[in-house]
Amino acid sequence: MSKQLITGLHHVTAMAGSPQQNVDFYTGILGLRLVKKTVNFDAPDVYHLYYGDETGQPGSILTFFPFRNIRPGTTGLGQAAVTAFSIPKGSVEYWLKRLEQFGIGHEAPRHRFDETVISFADPDGLKLELVANGRDERAPFTYGHIPLEHSIRGFYSVELWESAYERTESLLANQLGHQFVAESGPRRRYSTHAKGKPGQIIDILWDGKKTFGFGGSGTVHHIAFDTPSDEDQLVVREKLLSAGHQATPVLDRQYFHSIYFREPGGVLFEVATTPPGFLYDEDKAHLGESLKLPPWEEHRRGYIESLLEPITLNLEKYASPS
Ligand code: ZN
Repeated sequence: MSKQLITGLHHVTAMAGSPQQNVDFYTGILGLRLVKKTVNFDAPDVYHLYYGDETGQPGSILTFFPFRNIRPGTTGLGQAAVTAFSIPKGSVEYWLKRLEQFGIGHEAPRHRFDETVISFADPDGLKLELVANGRDERAPFTYGHIPLEHSIRGFYSVELWESAYERTESLLANQLGHQFVAESGPRRRYSTHAKGKPGQIIDILWDGKKTFGFGGSGTVHHIAFDTPSDEDQLVVREKLLSAGHQATPVLDRQYFHSIYFREPGGVLFEVATTPPGFLYDEDKAHLGESLKLPPWEEHRRGYIESLLEPITLNLEKYASPS
């Protein structure tokens, strides 16, 4: 078998409004770990917040640019419209109760393939799902306010909304190492794993009658696929260029190296390296605690800090009832 150049999802990056509201929702309600607090490298007066599992493994990382005065986006075609998290099979009741406890509106659980799905949204309207399944072997993380047995394991899948699936399917299959796994109505499932492993699943929901989405708070900006090394990334980049995709040069994102390109259906894709990862500039016990700046911004740290509103973890407010 040839080496896997793409090993599933790396991260999803979305837009938000208030940073504190974002922190409260993702660490407090959902219990993800804030693994890195840094700034938008192109606009350092805006945070770049990274949430994930204990060390921010690829396939668990959801990142946000919380822009205070951004206009709300609309979800539609050409977007990664739904981001799904993996929970254990037996955790549906726990999460339904938890969402209700904190007044998070959600749909009734429904079945899809061999999984149970709870749909809801974050405070900015970003579409999310909890997908209960019995196929996730990843280690859970908890701050302690959510029982470890029920904690989110990382991403389950990302759902792309497209007017047609064929050209995106061709890209996923021929340049990004995915295979077709299953379909149900307008949903076609792909994965880098033959049976579709949590964290390695892309669903295309194709519906030419939907309208195109518009970027803004509550929408995904791009999704990134994981590649094991810099060498593998260059091989993927060559494959993309040979197939006529306009991939950027490799960019240094501090915690990974990235190339970007737009897929035929309109979604911005990235391929990001596993190394160096989030332990690059903080140890495991203190991930996400201090504001990290890229080296070229360190000389104006005081100024940047004065532009950012302070954010704190308020985990005690979100404890499960005993
Ligand atoms: Zn990215």
